[in-house]
Amino acid sequence: MKKTKEEPSAEPPYKLLDLEVTPVKKWAAGVPAVVASVSDLIVNKTLLRGGAALFKMNQFDGFDCPSCAWPDPDDDRSPIAEYCENGAKALAEEATTKKLTAEFFKDNSVYDLAKLTDYEIGHLGRLAEPMYLPEGGTHYEPISWDDAFKKIAEHLNKLSSPDEAAFYTSGRTSNEASFVYQLFVREFGTNNFPDCSNMCHETSGFALMPTLGVGKGTVKLHDFYDTDVIVIIGQNPGTNSPRMMSALEKGKKNGAKIIAINPLPEAGLMGFRNPQEVAGVIGKPAHLADLYLPVKINGDMALIKAIEKFLLDFEKTSPGGVFDHDFIKNKTTGYDAFIERLESYDIEELAKASGVSQKDLYEAAQMMAFKKRIIFCWGMGLTQQHNGVNIIKEIINLLLLKGSIGKPGAGPSPVRGHSNVQGNRTMLINNHPTQEQLDRLQQVFGFNPPRHTGYDVVETIKAIHQGKIKVFFAMGGNFLSATPDTTYTANGMRKLDLTVSVSIKLNRRHLVHGKESLILPVKSRSEKDIVNGELQYVSTENSMGVVEWSRGALEPISDMLINETQVVCRMAKAVLGSKTVVNWGRYADDYNAVRDDIEKCIPGFENYNVRVVQKGGFYLPNAARDGIFKTKQFGDRAPFTLTTVPDNTLQEDEYLMATTRTHDQFNTTIYGLDDRYRGIHNERRVIFMNKKDIEKARFKPGDKVDLYNYDDGIERIAPLFIIVEYPIPEKNTVTYFPETNVLVSVNNVVKESNMPASKYVKIKIKPYNPDVYTEIDEELYLSKISG
Ligand code: SF4
Repeated sequence: MKKTKEEPSAEPPYKLLDLEVTPVKKWAAGVPAVVASVSDLIVNKTLLRGGAALFKMNQFDGFDCPSCAWPDPDDDRSPIAEYCENGAKALAEEATTKKLTAEFFKDNSVYDLAKLTDYEIGHLGRLAEPMYLPEGGTHYEPISWDDAFKKIAEHLNKLSSPDEAAFYTSGRTSNEASFVYQLFVREFGTNNFPDCSNMCHETSGFALMPTLGVGKGTVKLHDFYDTDVIVIIGQNPGTNSPRMMSALEKGKKNGAKIIAINPLPEAGLMGFRNPQEVAGVIGKPAHLADLYLPVKINGDMALIKAIEKFLLDFEKTSPGGVFDHDFIKNKTTGYDAFIERLESYDIEELAKASGVSQKDLYEAAQMMAFKKRIIFCWGMGLTQQHNGVNIIKEIINLLLLKGSIGKPGAGPSPVRGHSNVQGNRTMLINNHPTQEQLDRLQQVFGFNPPRHTGYDVVETIKAIHQGKIKVFFAMGGNFLSATPDTTYTANGMRKLDLTVSVSIKLNRRHLVHGKESLILPVKSRSEKDIVNGELQYVSTENSMGVVEWSRGALEPISDMLINETQVVCRMAKAVLGSKTVVNWGRYADDYNAVRDDIEKCIPGFENYNVRVVQKGGFYLPNAARDGIFKTKQFGDRAPFTLTTVPDNTLQEDEYLMATTRTHDQFNTTIYGLDDRYRGIHNERRVIFMNKKDIEKARFKPGDKVDLYNYDDGIERIAPLFIIVEYPIPEKNTVTYFPETNVLVSVNNVVKESNMPASKYVKIKIKPYNPDVYTEIDEELYLSKISG
């Protein structure tokens, strides 16, 4: 794509490397995972420092893995290795001994840095001191912490309304930092909290809250060990939460059956070599999925309905043997209407819409028919579908039929991504808080928090373009690369008066900035945080609602780093001055004070400071886990939801694209250039296509192509991709995120949750044209958004 003017690139350069394709793997982990972990420590020059810290990761007295949100065992943990390859890679990234000091920024302009790939940027090293880019500046310059906070105060205090600022949060932010952050932002006067939940599991919350009365899953880790059936749909444990495979292996050993539903036959769904066991290293891989259903992209709704339809048939021949009628009668509502709707579906049509054979669907139904304990796990394969909320509600329908919620070994289990994304929400990082939550803040602190709904991620991007946001503050993350419609988002970022990023490493967001820009470097979770001579700890909540402490073990990479909690407290003092009613100094001096006030504001945190340091922490209350469904609309009953099967008809030359991550990345952080389970090496700009589709379009594997999207009547182009033949359903394609975010319209969102529908993007594929050119027509966009 040609650029109209010399400005820092919003996208990685289109360097094609030397693609090597090897056979798709049939199992995950094993010795290659250990080798990959060690080599990442070496690449990041932290074999000793990082290697030593691994012994403290996920231990009872150690620090929480900064990567995914998979829980640690409640009771027994291996003292040597309570982590996976991805955890080791995440640690290697932050434990690196390479540093970016003022000298580095003096030698490298923003423009030159933007010419590097994301992988290259990520491997430059840790940010070591606060940096500032003045208006019109070409190089970041050092700035003191105090001056940085003064700049933020100047900008925020001159806004005509607090709603002209937006405050982003990444999932890595601790409970303590999240709580003080939302407190500051609300005392400042806005609920503009775009956060990473808006891109990963907001959809799950929107489905679970009205059906079960909680916005989270109900399953505990132990439930995986003792269940009958585990269904994994739209989720890839081998890459996204690798230690989940140990839980699956344990469940299987105890007799559970596993059904894997995914357009791609992911290695982590098929088999597992446990690198912590001798048998896993030298023996045969443990078989995971008993049944693999290669669903089409967005064929999930039809697939679940088809299974329900077969279950209904079985129930008719064995009345009372398949459905749990006591549970349905006492705990649910809407059963008759649901069955009437289900009867109207034709199994042949459902099978066709799902892309799975009737025989396989029948087998899946049979595996569940006479079992009472079923767990459904899902990830962004569902939450990023345009109808993701309804797909998850359909899963709940199935679990309700089986009475498979609110008892051991059963229930819904949305598998969260980033390690404290669930905790951020619990700590009220939420653009749509309830009035009760705000009332409690008011009672405890005495100021009246803003009551109106703020902006989520997609709304923030649009508001920036409409000139409604002037200051964008990011607590961690890489907003630009994580969000959809890259060119459009980047153009908005450039219009802002001030962008501020609290970060541990450099990323593309720092290089596509507002008129002025600040980088505030902080300690990583693995580093010691000593305040007034006392070693502090923070806490996080994992995917299963366990809150546990986390205390860093490494010496910080630079003595100019502070903790995120300190950043917020010092910023709050600078911005709010004498107007504040909060004692920020008390929080900054001792995080116990933060936890004491969390306890006053958020139910479930009673005796927080005592319980959080107990071995394994504590579980937050979860009524649905105990079989109590406090739904707003239906009292103490869980409703069956009437949903519909979407029409996914495509034009002759159209394909559905889902974006995914490689095994060598976590969210926007690129650890390496391979995706070894899928057999891809040394290249990220690939598109997975079905053999028949490649032939029909007269392409060949290895051909270079450009990818197009035409949503909103705008042409978006992701140039220069290589076709890879892959076992994927016809008319479906998969590419890597964030390279193809540029094709995801900011208007292509999940109904209700407003998340980007990045797993449901209509594309066209054309031969590579080096002269291809496109730009976002902003006027057109704005007319569509406001119209
Ligand atoms: S499963 Fe997730 S939390 Fe556990 S070590 Fe691996 S990346 Fe970290």
